[in-house]
Amino acid sequence: MLLTPGPLTTSKTVKEQMLVDHGTWDDEYKADTQEIRSELLKVANVSADNYAAVLMQGSGTFAVEATLGTAVPKHDATLMIAINGAYGQRMAQIADYLDIDHIDVTFGEDEVTTLEKILDALAAHPEVTHFAIVHCETTTGILNSIEAIIPRVHELGITTIVDAMSSFGGVPINVEALGIDYLISSSNKCIQGVPGFGLVIAKRRTIDRTAGNARSLSLDLYEQYKCFEEHDGKWRFTSPTHVVYAFQQALRELAAEGGVSARNKRYRQNEKKLRQGMLAIGYQPVISEEVQSPIITSFKYPNKDFDFRGFYEYLKENGFIIYPGKVSNIDSFRIGNIGQVFSEDMTRLLTLIKKYSVVKV
Ligand SMILES: *Cc1c(COP(=O)(O)O)cnc(C)c1O
Repeated sequence: MLLTPGPLTTSKTVKEQMLVDHGTWDDEYKADTQEIRSELLKVANVSADNYAAVLMQGSGTFAVEATLGTAVPKHDATLMIAINGAYGQRMAQIADYLDIDHIDVTFGEDEVTTLEKILDALAAHPEVTHFAIVHCETTTGILNSIEAIIPRVHELGITTIVDAMSSFGGVPINVEALGIDYLISSSNKCIQGVPGFGLVIAKRRTIDRTAGNARSLSLDLYEQYKCFEEHDGKWRFTSPTHVVYAFQQALRELAAEGGVSARNKRYRQNEKKLRQGMLAIGYQPVISEEVQSPIITSFKYPNKDFDFRGFYEYLKENGFIIYPGKVSNIDSFRIGNIGQVFSEDMTRLLTLIKKYSVVKV
């Protein structure tokens, strides 16, 4: 069982969809792609008149790169990036590669991005045309308040981009009401599909104006969007067919579970059980409870001699894969709460950790 932030543990029925080969020119396949695109709009709480779902081959980062590289024009445009972890940093790195002018507003990895500091930075930089932020910073599992920040930035006429990679499908997001222009996620996180493509929920009025912006042929989000729209769900270039069918099944299972709010509840229960259980054994979380997302939880090493390798191998032998830490200045490890994971799985995990800790900590 994977207790990681994606790829994550998927259901057997999702995996079973991958036992059949499919052609990409087939009308049925295109209709299935259209069903997925329209289902994603429901998950995002947007209307089909104003928004479109654009799928993009590759991992989540490919979709982030496609979005930044297509949304931001080559001239007279500046991107502001709110950064409180590795995925915000990655957007800055992408901007460097693509030669996009960017202003980074940085925060500590254990603190949320604040509206106040962002508005101050925007006041100091009237040249900003685009703004990007990570929703759940998977580095720590911290949840940034896009509800407080995005509407205010949007009001200023700035195009808004949200990396909701690890939260979309697991945390309710009112994309249209908040005024998000581009929301980015991928197949292998909270929708609980397997890895293979990214997805962008794009405001039509915004993406319609991005023809010719892209710095890359294969990562041209505008052309990808046009191809889906003008050819009834036809992917541009070869698509990961098995992954697409698995994803369609994953979306059906999300609906059957009761949608995003029900899934959010299950993840929150997993997180709470994990956090409380770990605290009882003696492991301290890296961030405080008020800013903790239900997605993934970071724990500090219990002491400076803690052997993460040994801990990891022990859990792996007993059926669980966890994640190393990503926080720069604290020795930590991470345990994911998302995927086909239930409260009883957390109970089993905690029993194992307790046994290990009695012997080793
Ligand atoms: C997983 C993730 C990504 C994308 O990572 P890939 O390894 O390219 O799939 C981007 N941003 C966040 C916040 C993530 O959690």
